[in-house]
Amino acid sequence: MESFDAIVVGGGPAGSACAERLVQAGASVLVLDRAEFPRTKLCAGWITPEVVEDLALDVEAYPHRFNTFNGIVVHIKRLTFTLPSVQHSIRRYEFDDYLLRRSGARCLVHNVRAVEHGPDGFVVDGAFRSQYLVGAGGTRCPVYRTFFRDANPRARELQAATYEHELPCRWGDERCHLWFFEKGLPGYAWYVPKADGYLNCGLGAMAEKLKARGEDVKRHWSHFTGVLARRGLAAGAEFAPKGYSYYLRGGVETVRIGNAFITGDAAGLATRDLCEGIGPAIRSGHRAAESIVAGTHYRLDDLAAYSSDVGFVRWLLERAFTGGRLRATEGLPAKEAAGA
Ligand SMILES: Cc1cc2nc3c(=O)[nH]c(=O)nc-3n(C[C@H](O)[C@H](O)[C@H](O)COP(=O)(O)OP(=O)(O)OC[C@H]3O[C@@H](n4cnc5c(N)ncnc54)[C@H](O)[C@@H]3O)c2cc1C
Repeated sequence: MESFDAIVVGGGPAGSACAERLVQAGASVLVLDRAEFPRTKLCAGWITPEVVEDLALDVEAYPHRFNTFNGIVVHIKRLTFTLPSVQHSIRRYEFDDYLLRRSGARCLVHNVRAVEHGPDGFVVDGAFRSQYLVGAGGTRCPVYRTFFRDANPRARELQAATYEHELPCRWGDERCHLWFFEKGLPGYAWYVPKADGYLNCGLGAMAEKLKARGEDVKRHWSHFTGVLARRGLAAGAEFAPKGYSYYLRGGVETVRIGNAFITGDAAGLATRDLCEGIGPAIRSGHRAAESIVAGTHYRLDDLAAYSSDVGFVRWLLERAFTGGRLRATEGLPAKEAAGA
């Protein structure tokens, strides 16, 4: 059986960020992902300047599509305004592959089914052994399922359902557009242009709230494509959307058990206002690596739970998405809970 210092399950942003730091510290690392990279990951591919900084990404040297917007056009019912803000977009198909290769870790295509802990460390599917195990397998991560689900159950009211498509398309506008609460959607829809003629359009909403109303994302999708067509934003696009769900930030008290860690979507870290998950995934991956290398305490409860700095925006979006049914301070960093 092959042995490693650490096995990372999942090669998305959380897994590659963690693996890269471990490799830099001299650890032997195996990343297992069930998909062969480059792989499709449903995601709008919006990244913040903080993500670029956290990854020390040299934008000039980045070999794939990288786009920068200087403003976001926000539509709320009949109100439309532009928020001046520098943000970026990438294609996850390219970005995740780039980061995983950059990590320098050994990677294998392997669908992890069984993880066990014994006297000599962790054993994955009877084939790989390690001292440390990092769960970075997204919403259905087997490390979460095996070791963390009981201690850290997912809150159904925090489940976001999404529906989206990314495709080559002539943009109707070079700016990013967001539509909040269209047709009462408990979430928002997006139009995110990528460099060199790619476009991502989609919508996300709180699954439980949709279900309670007898609605689903598909019904909202047909309304949304009508909005895009009326505004001439995606002329000629033949959409074939797909769905995926993930969890917004809930309780993250138990994110390490012995030498097992969970990171990214496996820990349910996406922000409660804009459902941003790439940044929190990378930050948690880095923290897990630091904890393994330097023996520091692994905690995620102080990671920002909101993308916006504006209290009213957080409050409005969170209320609209979850119907205010959540305990306002649940799982939040103390300073954010105090302002909630
Ligand atoms: C439609 C949609 C739009 C989004 N838009 C944005 C956005 O614009 N900006 C943003 O910041 N966030 C966005 N998010 C959230 C973001 O995509 C996630 O939060 C982020 O990808 C989490 O990264 P991760 O590394 O934790 O998990 P993932 O990126 O999901 O990676 C997990 C990896 O684990 C692998 N895996 C899973 N199970 C196994 C197994 N059993 N064995 C081996 N490998 C396994 C998967 O193949 C995958 O490669 C969006 C999400 C969705 C669904």
